[in-house]
Amino acid sequence: MLETIIIGAGPAGLSAGRHLKNCLILDQKKEIGKPVQCAEGISKESLEKEGISPNPAWISTVINTVKVFVPSGKPITIKGEKIGFVIDRIGFEKCLAKKVQAKIQLETRVVNLERRGDIWKVTTNEGKAFQSRYLIGADGPLSIVRRRVFGEKPEILSTFEYLVELEREIDDSVIQIYFDKEKFPDGYVWIFPKSKKTANIGLGGKGNLIERFQYFMENQVKPNYGNYKLLKNISGTISWGGAKMTLFKDNAFLTGDAGSLVDPVLGGGMINAMISGRVAAECILSNTPHLYERKIKSMPPFSTDLLVAQKILYSFPNSVLNQLAEILENKDVFYLKTFPGVFGLLSKDQLRKNFFRLAKLFLILEKNTASFG
Ligand SMILES: Cc1cc2nc3c(=O)[nH]c(=O)nc-3n(C[C@H](O)[C@H](O)[C@H](O)COP(=O)(O)OP(=O)(O)OC[C@H]3O[C@@H](n4cnc5c(N)ncnc54)[C@H](O)[C@@H]3O)c2cc1C
Repeated sequence: MLETIIIGAGPAGLSAGRHLKNCLILDQKKEIGKPVQCAEGISKESLEKEGISPNPAWISTVINTVKVFVPSGKPITIKGEKIGFVIDRIGFEKCLAKKVQAKIQLETRVVNLERRGDIWKVTTNEGKAFQSRYLIGADGPLSIVRRRVFGEKPEILSTFEYLVELEREIDDSVIQIYFDKEKFPDGYVWIFPKSKKTANIGLGGKGNLIERFQYFMENQVKPNYGNYKLLKNISGTISWGGAKMTLFKDNAFLTGDAGSLVDPVLGGGMINAMISGRVAAECILSNTPHLYERKIKSMPPFSTDLLVAQKILYSFPNSVLNQLAEILENKDVFYLKTFPGVFGLLSKDQLRKNFFRLAKLFLILEKNTASFG
């Protein structure tokens, strides 16, 4: 009989397991960190807030610029000294696993969950059963805990992503993001450099993602970086909407992607997974598990406002994005908070028409965004 069973040894489960002693982590995978289904971008500030010091052992590239390209081809540029990193996720998770106090048991898939009085009974694919007082669902976007215990049905989005080798060098300090409502509806395309010659390139959305990926590679990647080789398929799914879901019930917690806690605007979820795993563990340790959901929902990265921001951003036609890049040419996004910036917004017909929605979007993002990816 354990105090806590955590299902899933990704960022959420490892982060919870870092703080809990009388605890077992079960995961179906053979090796921590594998397979990678991620673009591997993470913000430096958020990592440090979670008590993780950046370590060259798992940093692939240091990022100081994010370029958001609009359909006209113009970029909106966000600069900063070490904004974040593109990491080696396998090395990163192995490093997290070393900090864990709980026992980790791999190659163990959870197939059933039962509530017997005040006890959780967790059954594995090998027919073994474990019992605990608390259950932490950290089992990712297709979570069995979310389906069986909570019955929640969040929004699930597919992605298509490859680790790619490029013929010509890429600036490995710049993350590139491409928005185009017509070519890549419901999502965006990203290029996250892993080195000067390799990058994680992918996109999310509904419909034929492979076709859109090929279009992007032929029309954007080839002209800029020459021929490319597809090295590894690192596609996966993401789910969001946790801000509106039940996240605690009968001493069971939903954390990370299991709780659909990814940033609904850009889809990053590693930091959110780590924060929610830590908060679940803290609630257990302080014997206040019932406060978990309230605590999570009061934190900026899990605000329902981000769902509003997501709706606003992905509803803009290309004309709005193009005009935005025109007034932000060679300027920081914070220019929009200045008098000339507001004047700039009002001087363009599409921006004037959407002025209040744009203002709302920027205010929400400024207040709540904790990660990129
Ligand atoms: C293509 C793509 C790109 C992304 N890019 C970024 C990015 O650049 N930056 C960023 O921050 N986020 C990114 N994300 C999101 C990020 O990967 C997730 O938010 C993050 O992995 C969530 O961590 P987690 O611990 O909640 O879940 P996971 O990392 O999914 O871990 C869940 C674990 O549970 C295990 N598991 C599942 N079911 C069972 C079961 N029944 N029994 C036992 N074990 C089980 C799995 O094996 C897995 O190890 C991306 C996602 C995708 C799909």
